Amino acid sequence: MDGDIRDLYQEVILDHSKKPRNFGPLKNPTRKVEGYNPLCGDRYTIAVKIENDVVSDIRFEGAGCAISKASASMMTAAVKGKRVSEAREMFEKFHQMLSRDSSSKFDAGPLGKLSVFSGVCEYPARVKCATLAWHTFKSALDGENAKSISTE
Ligand code: ZN
Repeated sequence: MDGDIRDLYQEVILDHSKKPRNFGPLKNPTRKVEGYNPLCGDRYTIAVKIENDVVSDIRFEGAGCAISKASASMMTAAVKGKRVSEAREMFEKFHQMLSRDSSSKFDAGPLGKLSVFSGVCEYPARVKCATLAWHTFKSALDGENAKSISTE
C-alpha cells in the first residue's frame, strides 16, 4: 500500500477513535448486545433501534483499542438509516474484506469509508478488533437481545 494512503487511513482511524460518532447510551433501544474480544480486551455494547425493517438509530458504549473503537464508530455511521437487508450486506462485505488472504484483490469500493480497514487483514491479531462491533451488531440483527457475545 502507498505510504501516503496508509497515513490517510491511519488519520481516519485516529479521528474516529478519539471522537467516536454515536457514542453513548441510546434511549429505548429495541435490541442491545454486548461484544467482548478477549484477545485485546475490547468490550462494547451496541444498542439498536429497528423500526419498519430499518436501523433507525444505533449507538455504542464501551472501551477498547483505537481500531475497535474507530470501527464501531464508523459502523454506526454507516448503517444508521439503512434497511436491515442493506446492513446485513455491509456486514458480509466487511467480513469478507477482513477475512480474505491479504495478498488477494478485493473491491472495497462499495464499502466507501469503511475500506480504510482493508489493510487490517495483514495483521491477523487485529482483525478481531476491527470486526468486533460488526459481529455484535449482526447478533442484534439476528434477534439477540440483552446478550453478551465473545469473539472466541
Ligand atoms: Zn483491540
